[in-house]
Amino acid sequence: MEKGMNKMDDKFLGKIEDDTFYDDYAISPKVEMNNTKIDRSVREEKHLFSSDAEEKFITGVRSVISEISTDEELIQNTPHRLLKAFEEWFQESNTSLEVIAKEICKTFPSENKDLIVVDNITCWATCCHHCCPYSTTIAIGLIPNGKVMGLSKYSRVVHRVSRRFDSGMVENLVTNIYKVLKIGLETDNIMVVAYSKPGQVHTCCASRGINDSNMQVITSSTHGLFLKDRELKREFLSIIKK
Ligand SMILES: [Zn+2]
Repeated sequence: MEKGMNKMDDKFLGKIEDDTFYDDYAISPKVEMNNTKIDRSVREEKHLFSSDAEEKFITGVRSVISEISTDEELIQNTPHRLLKAFEEWFQESNTSLEVIAKEICKTFPSENKDLIVVDNITCWATCCHHCCPYSTTIAIGLIPNGKVMGLSKYSRVVHRVSRRFDSGMVENLVTNIYKVLKIGLETDNIMVVAYSKPGQVHTCCASRGINDSNMQVITSSTHGLFLKDRELKREFLSIIKK
């Protein structure tokens, strides 16, 4: 290594072929300087975007970053890292709710007709207006209609649905969770609530604009018996308040 140079310099000069070094930067060693293309053969995850869209994304983000930074590492690689982040945040955007329900909701017969509450599911969704990730807590109430599913499946439904662009507004997040559960459990007797625990802020409002870090957001999607039976709704809400 030449005097005064470091590992990062070597990376840009193309001297490093060590994958583990690049893992730190979440990009492929095959990504070259000024290259907007990603070698799909070295990417394991499901591809959300077409190759053409990836190229345009990287070119666009790079031109914006070039306006606010002269750091070559950031200009070259941050567009690739942001693309990977988008793929995670919106991974399920092109999968239908029916397919998500089919893949997750394996049910078992049950005679239970009482209230089931699954609370305290922490999830991350990403605002579709500002692409700002936020954390919220989900509670699900339901009256089964002859079918139940494993408890972990509720959490899986929430986590997959929260990775959709059309779940970006928390109002739509709870509605999409309801829709998947309705398909999977074949009942409309479902209520889904999203609420903020201490430390969970709606980052769009906390980090920008109004800069309000204290705002608490509670949204719900209420259906079937939970709409008709006020006592049932009250019972569910009183349980999740504890
Ligand atoms: Zn937003």
